[in-house]
Amino acid sequence: MTTSSRPALAFDAFRKADQIASLLVEAQHDVLIVGAGLAGMRAAIEAHDAGADVALISKIHPVRSHSGAAEGGINAALGNASEDDPEKHAYDTVKGSDYLGDQDAIEVLCEEAPADVYQLEHWGAVFSRTEDGRIAQRPFGAAGEPRTAYAADITGHVLVHVLYEQIMKRDLQVYEEFFAWQLVENEGRCQAVISWDLVNGGLKTIGAKTVIIATGGAGRLYQGTTNAYACTGDGMTMALRLGVPLKDMEMMQFHPTTLSPTGVLITEGCRGEGAYLLNAEGERFLKRYAPNAMELASRDVISRAEQTEIDEGRGIDGNVLLDLRHLGAERIIERLHGTRELSMVFAGVDPIHDPIPVRPGAHYHMGGVETDLWGKTSLEGLYAAGEVACVSVHGANRLGGNALMETITYGKRAGKAAAEWALSHTTVTVPESLQADAERELGTLLDRTAGERPHGIRDEMAQTMHENFGVFRREDRMKRQGEIVAGLRERYEGVVVDDKGQIFNNDLTQALELGFLLELAACMVEAGLARKESRGAHARPDDYPERDDKNFLKHTLVSWRDDGPELSWEPVRMTKWQPQERTY
Ligand SMILES: Cc1cc2nc3c(=O)[nH]c(=O)nc-3n(C[C@H](O)[C@H](O)[C@H](O)COP(=O)(O)OP(=O)(O)OC[C@H]3O[C@@H](n4cnc5c(N)ncnc54)[C@H](O)[C@@H]3O)c2cc1C
Repeated sequence: MTTSSRPALAFDAFRKADQIASLLVEAQHDVLIVGAGLAGMRAAIEAHDAGADVALISKIHPVRSHSGAAEGGINAALGNASEDDPEKHAYDTVKGSDYLGDQDAIEVLCEEAPADVYQLEHWGAVFSRTEDGRIAQRPFGAAGEPRTAYAADITGHVLVHVLYEQIMKRDLQVYEEFFAWQLVENEGRCQAVISWDLVNGGLKTIGAKTVIIATGGAGRLYQGTTNAYACTGDGMTMALRLGVPLKDMEMMQFHPTTLSPTGVLITEGCRGEGAYLLNAEGERFLKRYAPNAMELASRDVISRAEQTEIDEGRGIDGNVLLDLRHLGAERIIERLHGTRELSMVFAGVDPIHDPIPVRPGAHYHMGGVETDLWGKTSLEGLYAAGEVACVSVHGANRLGGNALMETITYGKRAGKAAAEWALSHTTVTVPESLQADAERELGTLLDRTAGERPHGIRDEMAQTMHENFGVFRREDRMKRQGEIVAGLRERYEGVVVDDKGQIFNNDLTQALELGFLLELAACMVEAGLARKESRGAHARPDDYPERDDKNFLKHTLVSWRDDGPELSWEPVRMTKWQPQERTY
C-alpha cells in the first residue's frame, strides 16, 4: 500500500515538515519534484536514496506521463550487438547535434548510460534479449553501432512501470492530479510550488528546500505532434517567469514518421528493422539525400527530405509511405506489434499488406530550461531534468533513443544534487502574500464572464506554428509568426473560462496551459529569427542554407523581460570534437 495518490494526503505530509514559516503552506519537503515521468521519478528515487524527504507533483497519474508512449528504445554503449564504447556514442551524439550539443554533457551521458541501463534492468525492466540472453540492441538513426536497447516497441511503458514500482516501494508522497502553476521565489531561492488541486479545487502551496522541474516537452505548440495532451511546456514557462533563461528554443525536432492524419508516432524502430521510405513514384528517395545511411540518416535530414518530396509534388496527400512489407509478417508481429496495431486503428492500414502513410510531425524539444551538468538552473534551489531541461546533450538535433537515456542519467544527477543541497540547508520561508497574489490572479481569470474561449486561440497557435515555424523556416514567415503570436497573446488576456467549478476543472487548466504555450512560442520565434544559419532542426533553405560555425556555433538564451523575450548567446562547450561537415 502506498501513501501516495490522494490529494487529501497532502495534509499528512505535515508529519515530515520541519519548519513551516507560513500557515498557507500545506506541506514541506526537502526535495519537491514537479513531474512524474521518467525524469521526475528517476530524480525522486535518487534524492530519496541520498537521504532526503521527497515528494512528487503530477497533473496526471505518473504512469500516464508521456514517457510511457516511448516506443523505440534507449541508447547505451553496452556493446551487445557489436563493438561499441561510450566514446563512439558521444561522437555520434555530437555529430547528430550538428555540433551544438555541449560536449562535456554528452560525455557524461554516454559514460554513465551503460550502468544506468543495467540499474533499470536490475529493478526489473524486461528488455528484449539476444539469443544468448543479453540485452538486445537495435540500429537507430545516425548511430554508428546498433546501440538502442528496447522492450519490443513499448520501451517507455515498461520503464515507467518499473520506476513507479520503485516509487511505491520507497513509499514516496505523490501529489497526483495537482496542477503546478507557479514556482515561488523568496530571498533569491526557489522555495515552493503553488498548484491547483484538480480533484478538490483550490490553490495549494507546498514548500521545499529544492524544487526539480521535470514536466516534459511542449509538442502541443504544434497541430501535428506525437506528443500527449499533457505536453504543454508548463515547467519551461514557470521557470521563465522567474527569470531563468531558456536555451536553444528554436530547436524543435520534427520526427519523420508520424501517422497521417493524427500525428501518432510510428517508431524509428521500423526503419531500424529495415523499413523503406517511398515517394508517390515508389522511389526510395533518400538515395538522393542520404545515400549512405538512407532511412537511418538523422531525423532532421529525413524530415527535410520528406518535406521536399511533398512540396515538390512527389507526396501522396501530403504524406510519403513507410513500407514494412518486405520484413514479413512474423518479424512485424514479433518486433513491431504496437506499430501494426496503431496503423490499423488510426489509419486503417495493416503494414503486413500495405505501406503506412507518414509525414514529419513535431516531436521533441531539444531546447528548454538551461541547466549545468547537475541539473542546476541559474536560480538557487531550482533544478530541471528530462525534456523540459537543456543541459544540452541534443544540441540542434536529437538522436532517437537518447531522450530516454537523458531522462534517466540526468534525472539521477539532478536528484542527487538537489538532495545534497537540501540536506545542507534547513529553512523554507514562503510569504503568505505570494499565495494571496496567486489567488487574486486566478480569481481575475475565473471571475471573467465574457470574452473569447481559449480553444480558438490554441488552434490558431498550433496551426500557424506548423505553417510558419515548421520543418523549413523562412524570414518573412517567422516574422509573421512573431506578429501572430503577439496578437494571440493579446487576445489571451481577455480569455474566458466557462467552467467556474472546483472539481476537475479542465477548462481552467487548459486555459493556464495555453498561457504557458504562448510565451514559449514567442521565445521560439525570437530565437529562430536570430539564428541566421541552418543547423539541425533549424533549416533556412532560402536565406541561410549553410551551417555557419564562424558566427553561430553558440546557444541562444531567451529570458523574459518587460513582457517579451530578450535574446542573448552562450558559447558551446567543446571537449574533443571540432565541427566537421555533416553527411550521412
Ligand atoms: C510518442 C513518443 C515516443 C518517443 N519514443 C522515444 C524513444 O523510443 N526513445 C527515446 O529516447 N525518446 C523517445 N521519446 C522522447 C521521450 O520519451 C521523452 O522526451 C521523455 O520520455 C520525456 O520524459 P520526461 O520525464 O522529461 O517528461 P514526461 O514523461 O512528459 O513527464 C512529464 C511529467 O510532468 C507532469 N507535469 C507536466 N506539467 C505539469 C504541471 N503543470 N503540474 C504538474 N505536473 C505536470 C506530467 O504529469 C508528467 O508526469 C518519445 C516521445 C514521444 C512523444
